[in-house]
Amino acid sequence: MANAMRILVVEDERKAADYLKKGLSESGFVVDIAHRGEDGLHLSLTESYDLIVLDVMLPGCDGWSILTALRTSGRTTPVLFLTARDSVPDRVKGLDLGADDYLVKPFAFSELLARIRTILRRGPSRQSDVFQIADLEINLPRHRASRGGQRLDLTPKEFALLALLAQRKGEVLSRTLIAEQVWEMNFDSDTNVVDVAIRRLRAKVDDGFPRPLLHTVRGVGYVLEER
Ligand code: CA
Repeated sequence: MANAMRILVVEDERKAADYLKKGLSESGFVVDIAHRGEDGLHLSLTESYDLIVLDVMLPGCDGWSILTALRTSGRTTPVLFLTARDSVPDRVKGLDLGADDYLVKPFAFSELLARIRTILRRGPSRQSDVFQIADLEINLPRHRASRGGQRLDLTPKEFALLALLAQRKGEVLSRTLIAEQVWEMNFDSDTNVVDVAIRRLRAKVDDGFPRPLLHTVRGVGYVLEER
C-alpha cells in the first residue's frame, strides 16, 4: 500500500482542529495540527506535506502571510483555505496568492474531503510552474515575472492576467474568458476592465523592448506569443 498522504491543518480553534484531525485521520490521512500561525509556517517550511488546510485568521501570523512565505520560498505544496471570510475579494486574494482552493466555514466535512481528494488527484506536478516566452519568464510559485532578466513590478491582478496568458500562450483568449478566469465573474459586455488591465500590463511587459509579446487580435481578444 502507498504511504499515507500527509496533511497539515493550521487552525486556531481547538474544537475545529480536533474535528478536522479526527475526520481526516479516519479518512486515511496522517494529520499534523498547528494552532498558531508561526507554528504552521515553521512546519510548512520544514516538513513535507501533500496538502495544507489553512485558516486565514490566526494568532501570530495570518494564513495569507503563511501562503505568501510558502510560495516565495518556491514551495508548491497545495493549499486549501478554510475560513469564515467569504467575500469575493477575500477569495480572489487567496487564489491570487497561490491557494489551490477556498472553502468557507461552516462547511460539510464531505465537501472538504471531496475537495482535498480533487487537489491530491492532480498530483505533485499539477502544472508547469515556470513559463518562458522569448526573454519573458513567469514563475508561478514565486509569483514573479521578468523580461530580459529585469524583474517586472506587477500588481497581483496583472500577474494573474499574465499567468493566464502564459499558461495558454499562442492561444487567443477572449475578454469574456479573461474576465471569468482572472476576476472570477462575468462582466457586462460594455465594460472595458480587461482592456484597461491589458494596456497596463503591456506597458510593463513590452515597453522598451523591440519585439512585443502581448498582441491584440481585433474583435477576438488577446494572445501572448513570440512573432
Ligand atoms: Ca481562526
